[in-house]
Amino acid sequence: MKTINCKVLVLGAGPGGYVAAIRAGQLGLDTVIVDGQAPGGTCLNVGCIPSKALIHAADEFEKSMHFTGENVLGISVRAPSIDLSKTIEWKDSIVKRLNSGVAGLLKKNKAQLVKGWGKMVDGKTCLVATDEGDVTIKAENVILATGSVPVEIPSLPFGGNIISSTEALSLDGVPEKLVVIGGGYIGLELGTAYAKMGAKVTVVEAAERILPQYDADLSKPIMASLKDLGIEVLLNTKAKAANEDGTALTVETTDGDKTLEASKILVTVGRRAKTEGFGLEELDLTMNGRVVAINDKCETSMTGVYAIGDLTGEPMLAHRAMAQGEMVAEIISGMNRTFDKVSIPAVCFTDPEIVTAGLSPEEAEAAGYETKIGVFPFAANGRAMTMEAETGFVRIVARKDNHLVLGIQAVGKGVAELSAAFSLALEMGACLEDVAGTIHAHPTQSEGFQEAALKALGHALHI
Ligand code: FAD
Repeated sequence: MKTINCKVLVLGAGPGGYVAAIRAGQLGLDTVIVDGQAPGGTCLNVGCIPSKALIHAADEFEKSMHFTGENVLGISVRAPSIDLSKTIEWKDSIVKRLNSGVAGLLKKNKAQLVKGWGKMVDGKTCLVATDEGDVTIKAENVILATGSVPVEIPSLPFGGNIISSTEALSLDGVPEKLVVIGGGYIGLELGTAYAKMGAKVTVVEAAERILPQYDADLSKPIMASLKDLGIEVLLNTKAKAANEDGTALTVETTDGDKTLEASKILVTVGRRAKTEGFGLEELDLTMNGRVVAINDKCETSMTGVYAIGDLTGEPMLAHRAMAQGEMVAEIISGMNRTFDKVSIPAVCFTDPEIVTAGLSPEEAEAAGYETKIGVFPFAANGRAMTMEAETGFVRIVARKDNHLVLGIQAVGKGVAELSAAFSLALEMGACLEDVAGTIHAHPTQSEGFQEAALKALGHALHI
C-alpha cells in the first residue's frame, strides 16, 4: 500500500480545509489535503455559490416578468420564460470553474490533493480509499475539516420528492408546488428563488416567526416580501409526515392537522456537523454536544489534531471556516495566533437581504451594555430611491459611555455588500464618531451607515 508522509494532513477540502492547505503550502509546510468530491466542499459544490447563482437567475426572471405589466420605469417585455435546465447548466459551469480554481491554487502552493474518502486510524494516520487503491497518510499535524450535512426529519427521510438543499439546486424543472419545511435562511433563499421562477411556495415553520435567529425588526421586511411574492408562510406549524410518493404533507397547525399538496418537499431544518464516517470515534476527542470541542486556537483535546469549520459548530459559515483554516496553518508553522474575531458577519440572501455583524440591541443589552442605537431607513436614501429599493434600514448599536460600535445590522436590497464596511468598523474598534466622520460616497446605500451613526449621535442630516 502506498504511504505518504507529511507535516500537515487536511481532511476535507471545503472552504475551511482548502484555505488551511493553501496557507500551509504558502508557509512551506509539506501538506496533503484529502476529499472524496471535487474541492470546494459544501459551499462551492452545493451551498453558497450554486444557491446564489440560482437566486441571481430567479431575480433576473422575476424582473423580466415584472416588466410584462404596468411599471413606473416604462419598460415593456413580452412573455419571458425560463428553461431551468439551462440555468442549472450555467450554475454548474460556475461550480466547475471554481473547482478547478481551488485545485489550481492548491497545486500552485504545493499542497497535494488526494481524491478519496479518508478514515482516521489514529491521531496521526489516515487511510484514504482512492480510485487507485488505498493510501496511508502519516502526518505530524491533522486538521479535521469534514464540514456538515443537512438534518433529516426522521418521519420524512430524504428520497424521491422529499429533498434537501442539495437536490433543490439541481431540479430538472420548476416545481409547480414547492413546500419548504423550515423558515431559516437556506429554506427562505431557495423558496424565494423558486417562487420568483413561478412555483407556488408554502413555507412551514415551527417557530412563531421566520428567521428566528434574527431579531423581529430585521425579519419583518422579509415576511412582507414573501407575502408580496405569493409565498404562503405557515407559522407555529410542524411537519408531520408525507404520503407514500411525497406529493402531500401533513402538518400540525394550531387549528389541527392540515394536508398540503406538493410537487417537491424541501426539508431545510438545519445542518449538523459531519461527525461520522471518518474515524472520529478512533480519536475519542472531547465533544461539545454534537460538535468537536475546540479552544481559541482550534486545538482539539488531542495534541496535534485541530478541527475547523462546520465540524466545530455554529456559526456554520464559509468565511468562519476559512478564517479558522488560515489561522491553524499559521499556528502549525509556529506563529502565535488565536481566534479573536470581533465580528463574523452573517448574510441572508433573501429579497431584501439581511446582514448582521457584531451584537444586536438585545445581545448588547444581555451582555450588560447601556447602548445608543441609530436607525436610518433606506426610504430616506437617494440611491435606494433610484434603485426602487426603499425597503429596510441600517441600524448601529454602540456603547453609551464611549460610543464604541458593538454591532451593525441592515436589511434592504443588496445590503450584503455593506457587510465588509460593517465588519471592518467592528474589527478596527470604530466609535460612532469614526463612522459619522468618514466620507461615504454619494449616492450610495452605504450613506445609510454613516447616517445611522449620525442618528445615534443625535444629529442625522438626512432625516
Ligand atoms: P464543508 O464545506 O462542508 O466541506 C467539508 C468537506 O469535507 C466536503 O467537501 C466533504 O466531501 C469532505 N469530507 C467529509 N468527510 C470526508 C472524508 N471522510 N474524507 C474526505 N473528505 C471528506 N455559508 C456562507 O457563509 N454563506 C452562504 O451564503 C451560505 N449559503 C449556503 C447555502 C446552502 C444551500 C448551504 C447548504 C450552505 C450554505 N452555507 C453558506 C454554509 C457553508 O456552505 C458552510 O458553512 C461551509 O461550506 C463550511 O465549510 P467547511 O470547510 O467547514 O465544510
